[in-house]
Amino acid sequence: MKLENKKELTYDAIVIGSGISGGYAAMELCLKGYKTLVLERGRMVKHGEYPTASKESWELPSQNKVPHEEVKEHYFKQNRLNWWVHQDNKHWINKDSDYPYDEVERFDWIRGHHVGGRSIMWGKHCYRWSDIDFEANKKENIAVDWPIRYKDIEPWYDYVETFVGVSGQKEGLKQIPDGKFLPPFPLNCAEQFFREEVAKTYPDRVVTPGRVANLTEYNPEIHKGLRGQCQSRNRCWRGCPFGAYFSSVSATIPVAEETGNLTIRAHSIVSEIVYDKTTGKASGVKIKDAETGEEIEFFARVIFCNGSTVGTAAILLNSRSESFPDGLGNGSGELGHNIMDHHYGMGVSGLMPGFEDTYYKGRKPVGFYIPRFTNIDNKTKRKEYLRGFGYQGGISRINANPEEVFGDELKNSIFKPGSYRIGMTCFGEMLPYHENKMFLNFDKKDKHGMPIITFDAKLRDNELKLREDGIKCAVEMLESAGCEQIQSYNDLTAVGACIHEMGTARMGHNASTSVLNEWNQIHEVPNVFVTDGACMTSSGTQNPSITYMALTARAVDYAHKQMIEGIL
Ligand SMILES: Cc1cc2nc3c(=O)[nH]c(=O)nc-3n(C[C@H](O)[C@H](O)[C@H](O)COP(=O)(O)OP(=O)(O)OC[C@H]3O[C@@H](n4cnc5c(N)ncnc54)[C@H](O)[C@@H]3O)c2cc1C
Ligand code: SF4
Repeated sequence: MKLENKKELTYDAIVIGSGISGGYAAMELCLKGYKTLVLERGRMVKHGEYPTASKESWELPSQNKVPHEEVKEHYFKQNRLNWWVHQDNKHWINKDSDYPYDEVERFDWIRGHHVGGRSIMWGKHCYRWSDIDFEANKKENIAVDWPIRYKDIEPWYDYVETFVGVSGQKEGLKQIPDGKFLPPFPLNCAEQFFREEVAKTYPDRVVTPGRVANLTEYNPEIHKGLRGQCQSRNRCWRGCPFGAYFSSVSATIPVAEETGNLTIRAHSIVSEIVYDKTTGKASGVKIKDAETGEEIEFFARVIFCNGSTVGTAAILLNSRSESFPDGLGNGSGELGHNIMDHHYGMGVSGLMPGFEDTYYKGRKPVGFYIPRFTNIDNKTKRKEYLRGFGYQGGISRINANPEEVFGDELKNSIFKPGSYRIGMTCFGEMLPYHENKMFLNFDKKDKHGMPIITFDAKLRDNELKLREDGIKCAVEMLESAGCEQIQSYNDLTAVGACIHEMGTARMGHNASTSVLNEWNQIHEVPNVFVTDGACMTSSGTQNPSITYMALTARAVDYAHKQMIEGIL
């Protein structure tokens, strides 16, 4: 390659993937002055390009339902749980017919390839981790110890929450530390009653407004005209024209673009990170253009791999060289192993009496959250299982959303007070097991020539026992609040279904048992950083994305210092 050609293909930093963590990495690198190339395998999406965002229900075909035949042909894995693929969001979801993967054990790998990744469709719940999570593996002798503690990440939670805009209520709980919150979406009258009744019987179970990345307050200094206040339309997964919830396309990428340091290349499937054994570092990455089939190599001083937990592990496993025959930085043999998710498909529902003559107006994008309350100290110890579970739920007027009623009848129904229904879903922690894994089948390739990803992971004894308690405790809480017609369910979901996959390139103290160090740097390849869910050493019970963002900002800051010192 001619020198001038190589110069054109060389950047200070490359970020692989433009989802929640990749967008964050790109913004932080650009703000620090680095010419940054973002390589995204999916199509370009700019803020505002949300095709269904302003459509009314009657403008969507088939009452927003996707025909059975179409699901069978294209979304047979994505829609296994039968709730997720609709007319208003299917353009954000990969077609299984285009993006195949294999399963030894069923694995629901839910995703969308486009600029913004799953930051466009996420539920936006943000809860900090605490030392209960960071210390658990060590205390219980499970897998390996986290190389960081809460004090290491705390300032970075402050930093990202301030930019992201997380609404929430301070509760002083040690299991989900308070953060830099915007005003919460208040509980409605029935949810507030539920909070108070549960607290009377179970003082350690706290029903708090869900903490979500929706701007309840606009701050001109932080949001600089790029984002607006949430209108409580509750249509977030279509994309928000107000930029009121945090996504890469509404928040991090526009800020990165304003610096003049960002280049985004869509349709760029990263096939491998190239290792240079003479420097002991990565020299760059190879891509295949998804539209033209052209193969190109880009070069950079630092690489952030943020292709999501599974995407990142696939890239690293495919980056084979004489020095790393089993994948880049895989001296430990742990790459692709220890895959985790939260498990759900369990919860309760019922009627909440006492509010038949009360009424509230409008919508809100979140209900309540009940953080973990088991195994957080000696008092809450359970002998049957390790770790815990949390709940997301809400209480709403049944008449607010009547089914199969139209015209005048619909209007009259909406404006009438009536019964309230409660529903809540339990999210359980899953332990990291070496046996739970994903790997590449090099004998079978997809249409772009990438080896097919295969999953072999399942819930085990600890998870199954935890589920029983999760349901029992949920029923107890509804009973304590006087709910009627209580129904519980325990429909075992596959790993992946909660869309919180984690752990395929875990952080740890040393290269013989983990892939990444305490700065999310590959132990054996210091200029490659992994700050998506692949880095997680355990799964906690909290929704994980705000932790990926905090770890990303922290890792970029560290890489920056290393570059200034000339180490990287
Ligand atoms: C419906 C739904 C609800 C959710 N709710 C919540 C919630 O409430 N709270 C929470 O914390 N999390 C939630 N999540 C999970 C959250 O979306 C993910 O944790 C988060 O998006 C992960 O960020 P990421 O950067 O690792 O990956 P992603 O956001 O998935 O982005 C990865 C990007 O990398 C690209 N990519 C992959 N491979 C390659 C390659 N080889 N070359 C180039 N590009 C590549 C992908 O196309 C994608 O754009 C939810 C997810 C969904 C779908
Ligand atoms: S609820 Fe708020 S964030 Fe969600 S789509 Fe509506 S305005 Fe946007």
